[in-house]
Parts: sequence; C-alpha cells; structure tokens
Amino acid sequence: MEKRELLYEGKAKRLFLTDDENLVISEFKDDLTAFNGEKKSSEAGKGALNNKISTELFKLLEANGIPTHFVKMIDDNHMLHTKVDVILIEVIVRNIATGSLTRNLGIEDGKVLPFTLVEFDYKDDDLGDPKLNDQHCLILELVEHQDELDKLRRMARQVNDVLKPYFAEKGLNLVDFKLEFGKDSSGNIILVDEISPDNCRFWDIESGEKMDKDRFRQGLGGLTVAYEQVLNRILGK
Ligand code: 5GP
Repeated sequence: MEKRELLYEGKAKRLFLTDDENLVISEFKDDLTAFNGEKKSSEAGKGALNNKISTELFKLLEANGIPTHFVKMIDDNHMLHTKVDVILIEVIVRNIATGSLTRNLGIEDGKVLPFTLVEFDYKDDDLGDPKLNDQHCLILELVEHQDELDKLRRMARQVNDVLKPYFAEKGLNLVDFKLEFGKDSSGNIILVDEISPDNCRFWDIESGEKMDKDRFRQGLGGLTVAYEQVLNRILGK
C-alpha cells in the first residue's frame, strides 16, 4: 500500500491518501492539545501507544459485530483504514459523571450515573464543539434522517457494552469516551477515528488514578507511563 499526498492534518493525526481510492492511512502524532487547542504539548511515543491501543480495540469491536474503519496497523505510527465521509457529530458516552457534565450541570464528580448517558457534540472547533439535540442535527443536515441519529446512539451503546466490562476485567473503570462515525462508499455507518486514552477516560478501579489525557489537561504528568499501562493491561502484560 503506497502512502500518497496529505489529505488532512488534525490535532492528533495526519491523514494520507493511498493508491486505493477506498483506503487512507492515519499517522498518529505525538502532539497533545486540550481546551480546544489552547493548551499544547508533545510526548514522545504517545502516537504509537494510541495507534496500538486503537488497533486492539477496533479488533475487539469488529469481533463483537461492530463495523469499524480499521483495516490494519502498518507500523508503530500508521494505521490503514477505510475512507469515509465523517459525520460531524462527536458521540459522547458516559458511565460516570466528570468533566463537562460536572461543570455544566453540577452533577457530583465521580457519581455513577443511573444509566449510560449518550450525548451529541457538534464537531466544530470554531464553535467550541457545542452540545446538539436531535433537531439541531437535522437542521444542520449533519445526518439525513432521524433513523441515523438513532443508529449512532445504538452503536455507541453497543461499543460501551463491549468496552465497559472488558476494561473492568482489566481493573479500569471506563468513565466516558468520545466516538466518531462516518459513511463508507456504500453509505454504511461505521465507527472511525481512534479509541485511545486521548478520547476515553480510564480510572484505575483500585486507586482511582487517572490513566488518560486528563493527566495532560490537569497537569498531572506521567502521561505516556499511564497510556503504556493501559496498553499493557489490554495485552494482558
Ligand atoms: P468532556 O465533555 O467531559 O470534556 O469529555 C467527555 C469524553 O469525551 C472524555 O473522555 C473526552 O476525552 C472525550 N472528548 C470530548 N470531546 C473531545 C474532543 O474534542 N477531543 C477528544 N480527543 N476527546 C474528546
């Protein structure tokens, strides 16, 4: 598979075309950003860890019948995947209250939610990723029909139903996470982007230690050590 020209550069990944029009390559960067790009840094090895963690989790989800864009990991920093039209909705799944849920609604940090909450944010940095309801999504034409919003919610819950017990077995609470979806060339909705400690919150069940990007957001240090621990637990090391 030949890596061709740069298609798009995001905050954490670069996307390259290939010699197959249906396939693209993501290069996972070591760059870190938070607070809508206001806080920036870089951590050597972070990109490779996220590529490896995402690879394992996409394989796990595929094995559980959830369609994803994953094709294969090429090397430490590169993943081959299906080209899609990205749906500009960030699907946020929450099991425990923290972060913006706590800030916006005053729900106690660490409260176990009575049921899994699924929210939609508009994937638009200029607007600061505002919250969306279904009518907003339809007015903005982010999807074609209500059915597609229902499908996003259903798929997000399926992902949670696989990942939450999987991580619990490895001693990690899956607190919340952000998913992105896209439409492939046949119009099927599939899971895209990455699933890593950059867009999931993991708390150690025993110690409560944060094992995710909150270490950077909150200036706690030890980010790559924590990401490596997440990978090692996934690999059963
Ligand atoms: P919150 O809304 O509390 O900031 O984030 C909820 C969850 O979604 C967290 O796991 C967080 O990492 C993830 N998340 C929300 N928005 C973004 C985003 O724009 N980028 C990334 N990488 N993760 C996000």
